[in-house]
Amino acid sequence: MAKQPMLKFISVDRDMPAKRAADERNKDFHEIYAAYAEAKAEEQASRCSQCGVPYCQSHCPLHNNIPDWLRLTATGRLEEAYEVSQATNTFPEICGRICPQDRLCEGNCVIEQSGHGTVTIGSVEKYITDTAWENGWVKPPAPTSEREESVAIIGAGPGGLAAADMLRRAGVQVTVYDRYDRAGGLLTYGIPGFKLEKDIVMRRNDQLEAGGVTFKMNCEIGKDISFDEIRKAHDAVIIATGVYKSRDLQGPGAGAAGIVKAIDYLTASNRLSFGDTVPEFDSGELNAEGKKVVVIGGGDTAMDCVRTAIRQGAESVKCLYRRDRANMPGSQRETQNAEEEGVVFEWLAAPKGFTGDPVNGVMVQRMRLGQPDASGRQSPEVIEGADYVEEADLVIKALGFEPEDLPALWNEPALSVTRWGTIKAAFTTGATDLDGVYAVGDIVRGASLVVWAIRDGRDCAEAILKKLNAAKAIAAE
Ligand code: FAD
Ligand code: SF4
Ligand code: SF4
Repeated sequence: MAKQPMLKFISVDRDMPAKRAADERNKDFHEIYAAYAEAKAEEQASRCSQCGVPYCQSHCPLHNNIPDWLRLTATGRLEEAYEVSQATNTFPEICGRICPQDRLCEGNCVIEQSGHGTVTIGSVEKYITDTAWENGWVKPPAPTSEREESVAIIGAGPGGLAAADMLRRAGVQVTVYDRYDRAGGLLTYGIPGFKLEKDIVMRRNDQLEAGGVTFKMNCEIGKDISFDEIRKAHDAVIIATGVYKSRDLQGPGAGAAGIVKAIDYLTASNRLSFGDTVPEFDSGELNAEGKKVVVIGGGDTAMDCVRTAIRQGAESVKCLYRRDRANMPGSQRETQNAEEEGVVFEWLAAPKGFTGDPVNGVMVQRMRLGQPDASGRQSPEVIEGADYVEEADLVIKALGFEPEDLPALWNEPALSVTRWGTIKAAFTTGATDLDGVYAVGDIVRGASLVVWAIRDGRDCAEAILKKLNAAKAIAAE
């Protein structure tokens, strides 16, 4: 009987790729996890018990065929593992790096539930596709025949690019418009290199371009070209513009110099990684070097800001969050990484104002958790008489993002939005109330995850292809 290659979770312990030491990694912007060697990837993949009903797969937004690619990896059939993996995911090596796996696939692995430590799904997914790139298995979209129809995609983030890839593979003429100079959206200018190195994103952009996707960069819809013009020039339009309006802080001194937005701070730092000149960094405005930095917020953006400030050589970095650690929205893994790198967390602490202009301190209220609110989360309550001032000469606001008012900015009042300002779009297709106009990613969901943007982009591309095919069939009758 053939030797059983799987179910090794009893004899083989969970083993993540090695993490660089905190005092080494906190000085640069390179990724912090090393790659698996082949033998280690095979060994870790072999821990999977090949569940008949794989909860990992049902909790992956892309429903990746995880058990199959784990088995193929465990048996050394990496090219086939790559084929299976890329069949459902446009950017597997990116998801393998930055999905919050503890909340998605890995958090629902039955082995984790039985106390053996989850299969390291994300790291194996990254290994498979990094290997595919090294071996030249990742190819640009190469349609077997060209189609006449054209689709405009507004926004070159993961949602827009996932749709671009699928449509182009089917031979559709695709033009991606973006107001930035480089494609990738938040993969390029939001997420720092220590989570996702920039060449990983750029090589994907290059592949799409090599496959015939047209990129019109430095082109802001509503300013450089009107939305109406875009609609008239294409058979369908996908809005994939993300959410960029930063939530603000109120209170005395909130307008002081030295209080900056997280997105501006992270964009400046990411631009430096490309070797760009960034005047706001050179002037010190968006540079944490030698400063006492306070970051306000408890999500992934806040975690990226604190860890960037450490790498820029801040004198101290503190993170203020109004709830406790158990109730923070950011990933526990990233919080632990930040702590290892020297970030100090002040839980149950909320700003009520600022001292100095330029800022020299944050007036902080101590909080406790009270009764659960409508969403079931315990609401923070102020502890009277426990206020203090936290010294700070750079304050970074990382309180989340809201959508821009697209119907007003684009002079298109018929584009329906929800009460949160996100675009109203059909759940499985992305179709909006406007004929031929679709929307995907954060602009529909609100600030979400890369993997959900990819899912939306793929679903939307499929819906557009169905519609184009149906129109073609009718025309041929
Ligand atoms: P985006 O990636 O935001 O791309 C939208 C694009 O549209 C941008 O390039 C923008 O320039 C362009 N655009 C906007 N308006 C216009 C216009 N009028 N004309 C032309 N172009 C326009 N998710 C994870 O899964 N893991 C993480 O670790 C993670 N970390 C994050 C860290 C930070 C700091 C932030 C801010 C987000 C993070 N996210 C993370 C969330 C993730 O990045 C987003 O959910 C995802 O990028 C959304 O994709 P999208 O395609 O909808 O939009
Ligand atoms: Fe897990 Fe994300 Fe990969 Fe899905 S895409 S298997 S959730 S890492
Ligand atoms: Fe394998 Fe875990 Fe998925 Fe089961 S839930 S198939 S053990 S990875």
